[in-house]
Amino acid sequence: MVAGPLDRFATPLPAWNTQQEPYIGGMGGMTPKIARFIAEQKPATPCLVVDVDQVEARYHALNTALPQARIYYAVKANPAMPILNRLVGLGSCFDAASWEEVSLCLEAGAEPDAISFGNTVKKVSAIRAAYAAGVRMFVFDCQEELEKLAEHAPGARVYCRLLVDNDGAEWPLSRKFGTTLDSARDLMLKARDMGLDPYGLSFHVGSQQLSADAYEVAISRVAALFTDLSAAGLDLRMVNLGGGFPVRYRDDVPSIDHFAMAISHAMTEHFGNALPEMLVEPGRFIVGEAGVVRSEVVLVSRRGREDGPRWVYLDIGRFGGLAETEGESIRYAIRTERDGTPTGPVAIAGPTCDGADIMYEKTAYELPLGLTAGEQVDLLSTGAYVSTYCSTRFNGFKPLTEHYI
Ligand SMILES: *Cc1c(COP(=O)(O)O)cnc(C)c1O
Repeated sequence: MVAGPLDRFATPLPAWNTQQEPYIGGMGGMTPKIARFIAEQKPATPCLVVDVDQVEARYHALNTALPQARIYYAVKANPAMPILNRLVGLGSCFDAASWEEVSLCLEAGAEPDAISFGNTVKKVSAIRAAYAAGVRMFVFDCQEELEKLAEHAPGARVYCRLLVDNDGAEWPLSRKFGTTLDSARDLMLKARDMGLDPYGLSFHVGSQQLSADAYEVAISRVAALFTDLSAAGLDLRMVNLGGGFPVRYRDDVPSIDHFAMAISHAMTEHFGNALPEMLVEPGRFIVGEAGVVRSEVVLVSRRGREDGPRWVYLDIGRFGGLAETEGESIRYAIRTERDGTPTGPVAIAGPTCDGADIMYEKTAYELPLGLTAGEQVDLLSTGAYVSTYCSTRFNGFKPLTEHYI
């Protein structure tokens, strides 16, 4: 996607540190609660501040838009205990990718039958541990994984992940996961023969997916396979629509209602009155706009070239949690204390000695001309896929500090 215009920065955001400004959503997570916390506590940087009430608001928004679907929060987006606790309290289910994530959900109070082991690549020890803990829902996308499940999770509900198009996604996942319709058909029949419970089908249209078409196309393929398997004597019961719902970074994105309407319409069109159980596995949508990274400018330089770009080095970078800036795929909105003053083009990089630690060099970013070392900047909508993407101590830098309020 072409980078949007920079008018994001010209839009009047809630004034820096104000408490009175009503939070109207789409402000990249800078809720009044977070603004107050930062103003009062002046937390050391770099840090991530997450407003857990906002996580709850997002959960409700999705639940209201798509009440037919059960929500399995994708734990990997942000596995912090205050988030898991809040979601358990709301009745959420969980999509876990490892035994460690399963275990975190249990620790947070989730029932084992509210957990789906949703990684197609699982260690035998992890399958065994999850099964022993009572988890009974597992994904697979190949014969080899199915055999592992039949042996180590006998009788469990299993669903097969289909490979679908990730067009329209800013953070695509395609090719590494999922199988073809033909192979899924064979595998579901085999699952039954192996004593497993062939439960349903899943897909993931890619993360930060901006197009509802991706869901509609995937649903039509799933429905075709339901029909085909039904003719072969096997009735599936569940469609897992995956995650992918987008959040606002620099540009507006379609609302969750837009996606929910497209999904509901496609489900009715293809399944009629015989609607299967529906699951969604949102990660980014639930937590992305609930968090803000506060960072400090370490250096602003031109390195001897008056005509070259200004380089702005922050105390957080690719290794400090901003891994999704790889390929400049996810383009965070950045606020400074000088917003509203004249700006000029910049390249933005992290503090480490690695040449790959550059966030934005090709994307047109502008920051205030007066910006200098020691000033604070905020990276908005950074609640998802930041805290756990930190390296442990590369170059000696401590992992990001996290505050859940
Ligand atoms: C990462 C992932 C998700 C969450 O994706 P988002 O785009 O963050 O909503 C859901 N399901 C699976 C299987 C995943 O791997």
